[in-house]
Amino acid sequence: MSEGRGLKIFADSMLGKLALWMRVMGYDAEYEKAIDDGELVKRARMEGRVILTRDTLLIKRRWARENHLFIESDRPGEQLRQVLSVFKIDKEMFLTRCIRCNTLLEDAGKESVKGLVPPYVYSTQESFKTCPRCRRIYWAGTHRENMEREVERIARG
Ligand SMILES: [Zn+2]
Repeated sequence: MSEGRGLKIFADSMLGKLALWMRVMGYDAEYEKAIDDGELVKRARMEGRVILTRDTLLIKRRWARENHLFIESDRPGEQLRQVLSVFKIDKEMFLTRCIRCNTLLEDAGKESVKGLVPPYVYSTQESFKTCPRCRRIYWAGTHRENMEREVERIARG
């Protein structure tokens, strides 16, 4: 199974939170709330993604059989631990991808985010990134705690 930078995954609809965490870590992680098994397998195959799933029927489908990681636990913390025991994590990839839409972030000049981030953040941070697709702004001081809150929020929908 491929790992690290080039790894692309497709998480099934039960694994939304796991997919978001994988994006935080910089993995290319697709996830759709409502997608049927056939469509999921088709897209994963076309895009060369490893399927992450808890669905025992889905992994019996052709192609999926050889290209999945079966997730054992229904708890996101455990799921993340399992994934990290299989795929290599590259710290340099951390915060390179938009959590909301899975797009690679671009560097943004400090001036360009003026008025778009809280004043305290603007005065204390030097380096910012933006998502070219949904325009969300990220900065290096985005703490783990904030990230957790963000993941909770997005996972709730
Ligand atoms: Zn985005």
